[in-house]
Amino acid sequence: MKQRVVIAIALACSPQVLIADEPTTALDVTIQAQVLEMMKNLREKYHTSMLMITHDLGIVAEICDAVSVIYAGRIVEHGSLEDIFENTKHPYTEGLFNSLPNLEDRKAKLKPIKGLMPDPSNLPSGCPFHPRCDYAMDICSKEMPGKIFRNDVHYVACHLYNENNIKEGKVINR
Ligand code: SF4
Repeated sequence: MKQRVVIAIALACSPQVLIADEPTTALDVTIQAQVLEMMKNLREKYHTSMLMITHDLGIVAEICDAVSVIYAGRIVEHGSLEDIFENTKHPYTEGLFNSLPNLEDRKAKLKPIKGLMPDPSNLPSGCPFHPRCDYAMDICSKEMPGKIFRNDVHYVACHLYNENNIKEGKVINR
């Protein structure tokens, strides 16, 4: 109830943007669903943009229109909800989805991303994800990948999508 009151207070003055950082943490799924529904209704009522910060892909699917996937403080993939969920490109995004339980195949094993998050004050060279990436190539530890656009809004920061690697078929097909 306190969480609902805080969200209602934040929206009552019709802000142009509301930043919601893990707004449903520590709530059980029933209350979480109610709070998300309330946020959606208030957002529409007050015409407020909302920046949702969460590690919960279920919440993202429920409430977001556009998604930025962040690793080590950097956006590694950005796109519409559909781009990210149906046309995943970055190995880290793929790893996040592979870490979720598969409700259709109860015998399927979870596939966690290997290794640990790096120390933010001592990031690996090149692509900071390279020590954990199943697709890492020589260039990955040497050069930080730039943005590569897949459509007008969907971009990925990954050497896999350099023209040469696309020609060689080193891309994720999900
Ligand atoms: S740039 Fe290389 S290490 Fe980084 S995510 Fe892409 S393939 Fe993996």
